[in-house]
Amino acid sequence: MQDLERAITKNTILISIMFANNEVGTIQPIEQIGNIARKYNVIFHTDAVQAVGNVPIDVRHLKIDSLSLSSHKFYGPKGVGALYVREGIAFNRQNDGGHQERDKRSGTENTSGIVGTGKAIEIATDNLNRYYDQLNDLSDFYLKEINRRISNIKINGDLANKVPGNNNICFLGIDGNRLVNELDRRGICVSSGSACSAGLINPSHVLLAMGINENIARRKSKS
Ligand SMILES: *Cc1c(COP(=O)(O)O)cnc(C)c1O
Repeated sequence: MQDLERAITKNTILISIMFANNEVGTIQPIEQIGNIARKYNVIFHTDAVQAVGNVPIDVRHLKIDSLSLSSHKFYGPKGVGALYVREGIAFNRQNDGGHQERDKRSGTENTSGIVGTGKAIEIATDNLNRYYDQLNDLSDFYLKEINRRISNIKINGDLANKVPGNNNICFLGIDGNRLVNELDRRGICVSSGSACSAGLINPSHVLLAMGINENIARRKSKS
């Protein structure tokens, strides 16, 4: 938080910070960030794609000015998302055209996608606590067992402040691709990186930024 505050200058107009990280699941101190943004009169946007449907979010309480979400992350249709923008925040449209959505987003609305997103968020919100507890229990069990059975692992991220369905583990001394393939053959789905960086063999930028050694973070071991 001190680094954030120090980084703000008189030219800063926007702070954009992920609500929960997509690789390690860590939830950022959004309320504190919101307070800092308000204090300096800077607009605060959060990419809440990992958080929506997992944790309760009150944009007013958290002082979020703008929030983006993606439907398929809470089991809605793919290819649909939403952007929340607080009333009074200046908003420039990205594309010109037919003036739909009060001239905020031109183009014919994807009605089925919108309806699907609405239904999916309704189901996710109605069952938030139940899903959260269920996933959290499973996650705790999984991490406990993996810790007990396998040595030479490193569990990454903040275990207290994280979305429950996201676990990130380094298995030391095993080739990442090989591990993924072997687990896949046994019907267990894991990923050696985010979908956005599929096929890359360089280490995860998230793990590197967290100070994790390059050889440990590598998706594919050198040996
Ligand atoms: C998945 C994800 C995205 C991208 O959303 P898509 O709709 O899958 O392109 C952006 N940010 C975060 C944090 C994500 O987890």
